[in-house]
Amino acid sequence: MKPILRISDLSTRFFTKSGQVNAVESLSMSIDDGEVFGIVGESGSGKSVTARSLIRLIESPGKITAGKIEYRNAEVADEIEDSNPEAVDGDYVDLAALPEDVVRSLRGPSFSMIFQDPESSFNPTLTVGEQIAEAVEVQRRASSNPRSVKSRTSSSAYSLRSYAYGTIMPNRSYVSSESKDRAVELLQQVGIPDPEERVDEYPHEYSGGMLQRAMIAQALAGEPDILVADEPTTALDVTIQAQVLNLLRDIQEETGMTILLITHNLGVIARMCDRVGVMYAGEIVERGTLSNIFDEAVHPYTKGLLGSIPDIGSAGGRLQPIEGNVPSLMDEEMGNRCYFADRCPKAMKTCLEKPADLSVDGAKEHEVQCVLAKEEYDESDALDPGQFEGEDS
Ligand code: SF4
Repeated sequence: MKPILRISDLSTRFFTKSGQVNAVESLSMSIDDGEVFGIVGESGSGKSVTARSLIRLIESPGKITAGKIEYRNAEVADEIEDSNPEAVDGDYVDLAALPEDVVRSLRGPSFSMIFQDPESSFNPTLTVGEQIAEAVEVQRRASSNPRSVKSRTSSSAYSLRSYAYGTIMPNRSYVSSESKDRAVELLQQVGIPDPEERVDEYPHEYSGGMLQRAMIAQALAGEPDILVADEPTTALDVTIQAQVLNLLRDIQEETGMTILLITHNLGVIARMCDRVGVMYAGEIVERGTLSNIFDEAVHPYTKGLLGSIPDIGSAGGRLQPIEGNVPSLMDEEMGNRCYFADRCPKAMKTCLEKPADLSVDGAKEHEVQCVLAKEEYDESDALDPGQFEGEDS
């Protein structure tokens, strides 16, 4: 089976007053249909920018500057081939090469996103039900006329003007009773109690956990092929986190939808994912199956992340944090070496050149961007501890 998403050499930059920030750097990976793929890394490693890049939600001063984001959907490819031939390759559509209005039409029915902070993601002036019903309407238009991506967003009820109007005049009602009924169904599906009453409540009347569930309901309204979940449980307490993760897993098993899960928490990865990419300084530095990453990790950064997980079985033991900080990602400071070299306990002189992606022991699915995939650590070749002194990282 061909992957549902193929990403090649994707680079996203931010052109700030302080300089160019290379948030995502020549990233390549693929995600299979129906799998849960996790991206893990520290804060500032580029995970969320990667997620937003994939669905073209990068705002100024950010920009996707290179690469392809190829999404497999024969129907969409067929539909837009005449108007955007450069974006179509067989069954694949390159989202990076599509005009914004076409990409917007695919959000909802093709892919949708669960954001980190549900409280700031909902419009406080509209009821939760109205906001879910809006996503339902987009899906209804897509289903009624799948041959026209434009039909999905062209209704005057959901135009930009209507959105602005609704923000100023917060007394909009549901476009149809069917969309309200579907909003109730979706709230029920994600475990909101008394959905018939709750559908008419405003976001501030929901608890954090309920609002996160409502956001999942909104994301599911379009019945997307791909769901991008960016730290979906970070703002929640531990018991609610577990409930939300179980909910996502149940929905994935029920619908077969593909999920890209962004998290800094390896426990969440272990619980949810089929494959993992470990991200550092805008790059995927190691990728593989759960057992590749948890049992056979090669990259010292991956090992560092694993070493910083609390172990309930070893009471009194100390956690081993990774020394140092993630780099600033400012272009002029990045150079062309392994970006982890200034924090790596096994850095050698060969690491002053950029390592290529290497497969580990010939395993196709296990790849690492580290010289240790092909050579042993040689202490006599170790970098001088003062090598990076004075660099701002
Ligand atoms: S390439 Fe060298 S510096 Fe980079 S992670 Fe591997 S051993 Fe460490």
